[in-house]
Amino acid sequence: MNCYDCAPDHASNAAVAICRNCGAALCHEHARSTPETVVRVHGVGKSTLPELARRIVCTVCRNTQPA
Ligand SMILES: [Zn+2]
Ligand SMILES: [Zn+2]
Repeated sequence: MNCYDCAPDHASNAAVAICRNCGAALCHEHARSTPETVVRVHGVGKSTLPELARRIVCTVCRNTQPA
C-alpha cells in the first residue's frame, strides 16, 4: 500500500503507518506521532500509566485536533 497523502503528488512512497482517525495509509514523512496518555481505572489507586502510548495520525487529522 502507498501513502495516501503522497498520491496527489504522483509519488508512491510505501506506507508505514495508518492514521488512527481517518484510516489513511501514511509514509513516514506524512505520519504524525503524538503521545497519548493511557488511563486505566484501578480502584482508588494510580489511574494513569507512566508510559505514554503512541497515536499515529495523518497531517490533516493532526491539524484538526487539539495537541
Ligand atoms: Zn506521504
Ligand atoms: Zn487522518
